[in-house]
Amino acid sequence: ISMNDPMEEHRICVCVRKRPLNRQELHKKECDVITVPSKCVLLVHEPKLKVDLTKYLETQAFRFDFSFDETASNEVVYRFTARPLVQTIFEGGKATCFAYGQTGSGKTHTMGGDFSGKTQNVSKGIYAFASRDVFLLQSQPRYRNLDLEVYVTFFEIYNGKVFDLLNKKAKLRVLEDGKQQVQVVGLQEREVSCAEDVIKMIEMGSACRTSGQTFANSSSSRSHACFQIILRRRGKLHGKFSLVDLAGNERGADTSSADRQTRMEGAEINKSLLALKECIRALGQNKSHTPFRESKLTQVLRDSFIGANSRTCMIAMISPGMTSCEYTLNTLRYADRVKEL
Ligand code: ADP
Ligand code: MG
Repeated sequence: ISMNDPMEEHRICVCVRKRPLNRQELHKKECDVITVPSKCVLLVHEPKLKVDLTKYLETQAFRFDFSFDETASNEVVYRFTARPLVQTIFEGGKATCFAYGQTGSGKTHTMGGDFSGKTQNVSKGIYAFASRDVFLLQSQPRYRNLDLEVYVTFFEIYNGKVFDLLNKKAKLRVLEDGKQQVQVVGLQEREVSCAEDVIKMIEMGSACRTSGQTFANSSSSRSHACFQIILRRRGKLHGKFSLVDLAGNERGADTSSADRQTRMEGAEINKSLLALKECIRALGQNKSHTPFRESKLTQVLRDSFIGANSRTCMIAMISPGMTSCEYTLNTLRYADRVKEL
């Protein structure tokens, strides 16, 4: 395979993906307010009212490294976002890829894929495509003699606590040593030797993530899920790719809810998404101060944000419907700021 890197110069890539209107939205005659006129530009046509109550659409333009419209497949999105980063970890670097957006916008579909059990509905996501390419690169002549071993981890960060999705949601402790090395104590690292092995881990972890939940009260919309592909050479860390399915960003606004638990979770999500933005910006600007400690998410991913060979990609997911307009604009503004100097 050719691993030509379309973003060779950039350490940070920010993209946006629009999902199609779903059946319920079509049934409710929901309007699609998003257009993608070219491969980098995305337009939001926001409905507004004039003083005399006549309706009009106000168009706002956003520019990203890539904009994917509703016809883009997971594989196409993968090719322009995470794929260049697979190379990074073979070169001994660290890579991160984030899916950001409102609940229902397609984060899990894009990252983990859909494994609903019904075979006709199985679709692979970025975790699976990245794993496939890791094994392809591992066997290429230029990397074969490195004798790299491949491991995966899969964990969830919920309300500032870490749970192992490959070990029955065991609660894990995060420790920072004197050299500011962060360690998730007891996190299961499973050795994998082919793409099929990885698919099994993804299925297992995804089932663990969503078990015992109803959609309306889904804790998966309130947690960050992190799937990591780790390369080791004679046991020693060589490269690491962290692929993160973030908590729904609208949950960060739950800070004035009547329910104390919901309020606390909202505050935690808010804090972690703000810290994440600052950490990515710092990576882009080679800044020395980075607010890693502000949240468990950034603390755990600390080593991936530093070093000369660290790269990251953020995919902002958006729902196309008119009723999501406000959330969509929030998502796009956040993604815009990640990149802005
Ligand atoms: P999130 O993880 O952001 O809450 P999901 O990934 O669960 O959202 O997506 C919500 C629903 O929309 C799921 O049923 C998913 O299969 C569907 N969906 C999301 N993105 C797409 C897409 N690009 N094409 C088709 N269906 C999609
Ligand atoms: Mg999800």
